[in-house]
Amino acid sequence: MKLESYLSGQWVAGSGAGRPLVNPVTGAEIARADASGLDLAGGIAFARDTGGAALGALTFAERGELLKAVADVLIANRDAYVRIARENSGNTASDASVDIDGGIVTLKTYARLAKSLGNARSLIEPGQDQLARDPVFFSRHVWTSRPGVAVQVNAFNFPSWGMWEKVAVALLAGAPSLAKPATATSLLSYQMVRDVIAAGVLPAGALSLICGGGEGLVDALGPMDSIAFTGSADTGAMFRQALAGRAAAPRLTVEADSVNATILGPDVTPDSPVFDLALREAAKALTIKAGQLCTNIRRILVPAALAPAFAEALGAKVSALAVGDPADEATRVGPLINVAQRDTALENIARLGAEARTVATASLPDVAPNSGFVAPQLLLCDDPTAARAVHEIEVFGPCATILPYADLDQAVQLGAAGEGSLALSLFSDDRAVQAGVVAGLAPWHGRILMVDAEVGRNHTGHSIVMPQCAHGGPGRAGGGEELGGARGLRFHMQRTAIQGGPSALAALADAACELSL
Ligand code: NAP
Repeated sequence: MKLESYLSGQWVAGSGAGRPLVNPVTGAEIARADASGLDLAGGIAFARDTGGAALGALTFAERGELLKAVADVLIANRDAYVRIARENSGNTASDASVDIDGGIVTLKTYARLAKSLGNARSLIEPGQDQLARDPVFFSRHVWTSRPGVAVQVNAFNFPSWGMWEKVAVALLAGAPSLAKPATATSLLSYQMVRDVIAAGVLPAGALSLICGGGEGLVDALGPMDSIAFTGSADTGAMFRQALAGRAAAPRLTVEADSVNATILGPDVTPDSPVFDLALREAAKALTIKAGQLCTNIRRILVPAALAPAFAEALGAKVSALAVGDPADEATRVGPLINVAQRDTALENIARLGAEARTVATASLPDVAPNSGFVAPQLLLCDDPTAARAVHEIEVFGPCATILPYADLDQAVQLGAAGEGSLALSLFSDDRAVQAGVVAGLAPWHGRILMVDAEVGRNHTGHSIVMPQCAHGGPGRAGGGEELGGARGLRFHMQRTAIQGGPSALAALADAACELSL
């Protein structure tokens, strides 16, 4: 099977042999994807002109109806997607849910937001400033849709959520999407887009898809287009460089690698409820999607006195993890998506081994030589202030490292040593500790989850990205920002200061939805 791309309203095949998609349990090839020789510039122009015009004519509420219709198509075909996620991504049923249901929930959340924005096509910020002595000249800030294509380049670990979270925001903003999933796991994105297109729920040009390499994409983009990239820092840097010399460049946002941390506060003891809550969350990090989440916990910061008890308790959980075929209901940890990812993860674990020792390793069943399996591992680094690799290397697999710390100041320093991350979690009941971590580490993070006795288990998890919350992080994490409810619209819209008389501004305000972004 060779995956086609959807450009200019047609399914088209690339002219090359393509790259293989494999079943990571067996290593067997299940499909190929190839986009060579396709008319990318023509596809982008069609999306911009036809899709952009159609979406631009709709109100926010009408665009929301489209998002709901897309979600309904995905819900109707969900069982087939779970099978694909297992066969191409090695997902267990709960891994698949994070990706598939995560995409559906995000589409529905933006459909609801669209309804609340009503029958407007632009946004206006509350308040106006008087710019002249007499009250006849004011300014207001208006957001309008950019007449361009939203190119969305995604990482292999979220072929569903990664695509739909970007499509949802772009579509609500009135921008047509050109999705480019990572080739290795593109079968799920392909099937989903195939179903949505077949259902006829979107206007022509509103959604396009490239299956295969995306070389040459950047060259076809103009200043009203955008690229939302998720993936490795190296590829992100390539996009930045490709645009660096362009005077009228498309907008770029980058979501990249991140060496996220969780912190057990200095107030935590083995008897505190938050000890068990932290344990549960850290164990999940070594389980869900076999650790292939960008927001995953990689570093576990524990007060030095507590580290032996925490290492023992977490180590016991890790040793007991059932690794195996995701088709088996008893399996908790499936394989990485292919041999290349397995080998990279093992190399990176070996690099961490120069600074950290192994506390516990899960056992691997008999696996095929070309499978993606990596045994979950818990490491402990005795001197995390002197260490570098534990703060710099993202093992994109089931591995985390415990870092003992002396006091809260040191915990904050170690948190910041990741040089910018997507997500941090804090398990503490102490208000001063919570305030200290937020003050010291919020600038280094896009999101902080605080769990205390009041929250208990009623939280959405360290790794789960909620569409209501901003997603992205500074520094190493790429410096981008996505989602965050209406905040996500900023990337696809332009804020313009409109200066004029009170009646003219009032007329603009009447046609817009008043919202502070
Ligand atoms: P990657 O190798 O950087 O690839 C990411 C995407 O870029 C893929 O779709 C890839 O396409 C595409 N690409 C590569 N070169 C390109 C080019 N010259 N032109 C156009 N597209 C190009 O990353 P990955 O291995 O898929 O993903 C793993 C990484 O993503 C991890 O480091 C993880 O932390 C990060 N990640 C971050 C987030 C976040 O939200 N911050 C979320 C998920 C993952 P091909 O597959 O066709 O090469």
